[in-house]
Amino acid sequence: MSDIQIPKAFNTLTADAVVIGGGIVGTATAFWLSKAGMKTILIEKRDGLSSLTTAASAECFRTQFTEQAMADIALPSVGMFENFNDLIGRSDIDIHLTQRGYLFVTDEAAQLPELEKAIAHYEACGVTGSELITGTDLHKRFPFLGPDAVAASFNNRDGWLSTHEATYGFAKGSDDATFFMKTMVTGIQTDARGICSVETDKGNISTRLVVNCAGPYARDIGQMAGLDMPFRTVRRQKAFIKSDHADLPADAPFTVDLVNHSYWRPEAGGLLCAWVDPDEPETRPADEPPTDWDFAAESIYRVSRLNPFLDGVAENLKAEDVNVSAGFYVYTPDEKPVIGPSEEIEGFHLNCGYWCGVMMSPEAGKRVADIATGRMDNKDNPLRYSRFKEGDVKPGDTFLK
Ligand SMILES: Cc1cc2nc3c(=O)[nH]c(=O)nc-3n(C[C@H](O)[C@H](O)[C@H](O)COP(=O)(O)OP(=O)(O)OC[C@H]3O[C@@H](n4cnc5c(N)ncnc54)[C@H](O)[C@@H]3O)c2cc1C
Repeated sequence: MSDIQIPKAFNTLTADAVVIGGGIVGTATAFWLSKAGMKTILIEKRDGLSSLTTAASAECFRTQFTEQAMADIALPSVGMFENFNDLIGRSDIDIHLTQRGYLFVTDEAAQLPELEKAIAHYEACGVTGSELITGTDLHKRFPFLGPDAVAASFNNRDGWLSTHEATYGFAKGSDDATFFMKTMVTGIQTDARGICSVETDKGNISTRLVVNCAGPYARDIGQMAGLDMPFRTVRRQKAFIKSDHADLPADAPFTVDLVNHSYWRPEAGGLLCAWVDPDEPETRPADEPPTDWDFAAESIYRVSRLNPFLDGVAENLKAEDVNVSAGFYVYTPDEKPVIGPSEEIEGFHLNCGYWCGVMMSPEAGKRVADIATGRMDNKDNPLRYSRFKEGDVKPGDTFLK
């Protein structure tokens, strides 16, 4: 039975596992730990699950990764989203799975070999179904693209979903798991055997297993346990544009301009658009990250380059039609997440360091549970924390991160 509650102050509780952070990553982790038979308590400082970075995301998922370690998490995760109700054992949750594909587009013919290489890497990683689409074929299939677009990679298994529904689905589908809202982790205690207790502002929980799923605050949680993790937090924004403009192609895929790092996709009542600024500086995480007054205009300008319908959409926009929100990407030295035990501190496990945590959450949570219960050897886990010490820290070349 799962239980989501705001607890009053409590005397010391005991759990097989404590998960810190109630975003989609932490909740999926709690789901899998509970399915492995562990009595699990998840601690979230905010009012509800899925309310910080997860709520700020564009809610997209993709299979198209060029690195094996990433594809090995992304592919089964997409499979789990496709069969979500069976996975969680409930029919009352609708994650609004929308598989209209990811389209990576360019107007530079010189980028064609890069696209070909990416597709070859996808295939080598077991990602099937990616197509290279060029010339008139591209415009026939995606008539909203401007005349300059010359080539794209497309995979129609990719798409987007409701992260709120998915997160609550994981929570409601859990077995023996309790989800404490409005409860803040303030410390982590160790003894000679490793992790022994988690301190919160409501009381302590005695446990031998903690999973750090604190999203942008993962580094702070690591420090509570005595671990200095090499993570960078970088603010990322997105804009929702309310529009019922006739030119808006409501059946379009998630469309990425490979030249200027911008993207857009249809959303109920309008569209989402954004760009990933490579010069955005590293900052401390915040619960209410500020947004830039010109972000929506800059995003529309960038996206409209290869998606000229957006000029029409933008023409009559009023201030109240635009909503900009922000959250954080977390980058590790090789830009891949960290999953599994920290190794330095017995019982301190990690599931953090994400710029793509939504799409990775189902399988990443399962991997945490598989390693914690001995079903998978951490040596066989390429996303183990010790890889940084082993010197295996090459960032991959997956598009748009
Ligand atoms: C603009 C933008 C667009 C994005 N688009 C996508 C996308 O399309 N697809 C995708 O896969 N990813 C996307 N991402 C990234 C994705 O949102 C994150 O990787 C993902 O949400 C991380 O989930 P999480 O559960 O790790 O973190 P969070 O959702 O941030 O959850 C962590 C939780 O930990 C809690 N917490 C922290 N410290 C404590 C404490 N001391 N005590 C108790 N609780 C604590 C926080 O309150 C928070 O709720 C995007 C991000 C942004 C900002």
